[in-house]
Amino acid sequence: MAEEADVVVVGLGPGGENAAGLLAEAGLSVTAVEAGLVGGECPYYGCVPTKMMVRAADALGEARRVPHFAGRAEVTADFGVAAKRVREQATDDWNDKVAADRLTGKGVTLVRGYGVLTGPREVTVGDRVIRGRKGVLVNPGTAPLVPPIDGLAGTPFWTNRDAVKATEAPVSLIVLGGGAIGVELAQVFARFGTKVTVVEGSERLVAPLEPEAGDLLRKVFEAEGITVHTGARASRVGHDGAEFTLELGGRTVRAERLLVATGRKTDLERLGVAAVGLDPKARSIPVDGRMRAGDGLWAIGDATGKGAFTHVSMYQSAIAVRDILGQDGPEADYHALPHVTFTDPEIGGVGLTEARAREAGIEVRTATTDIGASTRGWIHEAEGFVKLVADGDHLVGAAVAGPYGGEILGFLALAVQARVPVETLKHMIYAYPTFHRAIEATVAEL
Ligand SMILES: Cc1cc2nc3c(=O)[nH]c(=O)nc-3n(C[C@H](O)[C@H](O)[C@H](O)COP(=O)(O)OP(=O)(O)OC[C@H]3O[C@@H](n4cnc5c(N)ncnc54)[C@H](O)[C@@H]3O)c2cc1C
Repeated sequence: MAEEADVVVVGLGPGGENAAGLLAEAGLSVTAVEAGLVGGECPYYGCVPTKMMVRAADALGEARRVPHFAGRAEVTADFGVAAKRVREQATDDWNDKVAADRLTGKGVTLVRGYGVLTGPREVTVGDRVIRGRKGVLVNPGTAPLVPPIDGLAGTPFWTNRDAVKATEAPVSLIVLGGGAIGVELAQVFARFGTKVTVVEGSERLVAPLEPEAGDLLRKVFEAEGITVHTGARASRVGHDGAEFTLELGGRTVRAERLLVATGRKTDLERLGVAAVGLDPKARSIPVDGRMRAGDGLWAIGDATGKGAFTHVSMYQSAIAVRDILGQDGPEADYHALPHVTFTDPEIGGVGLTEARAREAGIEVRTATTDIGASTRGWIHEAEGFVKLVADGDHLVGAAVAGPYGGEILGFLALAVQARVPVETLKHMIYAYPTFHRAIEATVAEL
């Protein structure tokens, strides 16, 4: 006998957890299926623990600036302190009881196990078949993508899931992949004394961002003692029980640990999407502006390919909930999608990069200024930049690197979102002396 609910939610990442709770609070019967931890990657293995590690590493970075600005400071880095905070405060020792109780407290029926789509509006978990009268909302998220490098499988390499569980900083670490996850963790471990080597296949670190960001990070990383190999393809991995070796076309890199941070993937085949007419080989689940992926099927989060960020998952979840409840509201719009890489300097971006704008056929105007040229930037001896990308009279993209780059970005995200005229940005008042005054200088150059 199949069980029934109004909605079945498969996967409880941030968006799925939010949607299940909202739908139950709206009076629907909701069954939520989760194979791992309620809340997904973000609270246990992603955003929250890594930003807690970044916070610790930032404190060390700032302490090391004391001799330059203020005298003497003796700091002994102890990774155990950061690891304890991650275990006890961020992840509750990777226990989701609080989140699960919160969800069931809202009236959601929680089913532990892996849900497979076995037909329209139908999910099977082990021997339980659950039908959604209104339909099924999938939020399967992503798992670390492990590239098919000769010798890698079978070695005790780390992914982000192991790195956040580390109780001590390794003596040495190779970080394979110079994207956001790789660079954040590289700098964290380096600041705790690990000898870090970053290996990136593209010509720059954080390759999808503005090239200025990759160049800046390389400079900062090398100044902090991190070795950076870009345009480098790993051809073979070895592990002799104590040490990893990574062959990079004629060069061998060695380290105690290897962190694989080469991207993320969703296993659509295992999710059973073929049973609802979707392509199991696709990289993502196509959705419309209301998160519909088919009749009685909604998809949200990383798996939709619209941006692998918690804020996207949450944004889409609110839209899907409105659609399921038959409520009006705007469709999804990603033209001002913001993102932050939490390195020091912090790098924020919103909307299109210059390259993406040109690819889109836009006749762009750009301007870039050095954040260190602003009064506050000069006082702080800050490194970074503001870059603006304009189409006609308004911004279509912006990037900020520097202290609190992700916070300064908020201003520019609003400008891109609301298509604020450049003339308005040129003739408003910017508080002195703030980092965001660098925006005024950049707008003046557009
Ligand atoms: C190291 C790291 C750092 C990050 N930092 C940031 C950051 O600073 N800011 C930011 O915005 N984003 C960050 N992200 C990305 C962020 O974690 C994800 O975008 C976010 O978790 C949203 O993902 P999601 O909702 O799609 O699902 P996920 O969080 O991936 O969760 C999906 C859940 O579904 C479950 N599941 C999957 N398939 C099934 C199934 N068939 N049946 C039952 N359960 C299933 C999984 O067990 C999992 O719990 C980071 C990611 C990583 C890895």
